[in-house]
Amino acid sequence: MSTIFSKIIEGTLPAHKVAEDENYLAFLDINPLAKGHTLVIPKKETDYIFDVEDQEYIGLWKFAKMVAKKIEAQIPCERIGVAVVGLEVAHAHIHLIPINEVEDINFARPKLNLTQDELALIAKKISD
Ligand code: AMP
Repeated sequence: MSTIFSKIIEGTLPAHKVAEDENYLAFLDINPLAKGHTLVIPKKETDYIFDVEDQEYIGLWKFAKMVAKKIEAQIPCERIGVAVVGLEVAHAHIHLIPINEVEDINFARPKLNLTQDELALIAKKISD
C-alpha cells in the first residue's frame, strides 16, 4: 500500500509544494512546529531513511540543503533546524524547521494552527 507521501507525489493528495525535481519533493508539513516547517522526501518510497540507497541518500540531503537555503531566505529565524523522526509516516523524510531556540524543534509541543490560505502563502514565498 502506498504511503500518504506517495499519494502526494502521485497527485492524489494535495500538498503545499515548495520544491521538486525528478527524484525529490519538498512540501510544507500540514501540522507545523513553525511557519515554514517543511518535509523533504525521496520520490522512491522507502520507509526508513537509513535504508535509502547511498546515492539517493546523498541526493536527498543535497536537495534538503537547497530547500533549507530557500526557507531561510524567506522566513525570519536564527537557522534551519533538522530532524528525522519517521514514527508517523513510513516514507523517509527530513524535517526542516525554522528555529530561534531549541524549544522550537520540540516535537512534543503543540503544533501551529495555520489555515490552508496561510500555508499556500508560505509555500509560494519559499518556492518563488
Ligand atoms: P514523523 O513520521 O514522525 O516524522 O511525522 C510525520 C510528519 O508528517 C508530521 O509532522 C505530520 O504533521 C506530517 N504529515 C502527515 N501527513 C501529512 C500531509 N498529508 N501533508 C503534510 N504533512 C503531513
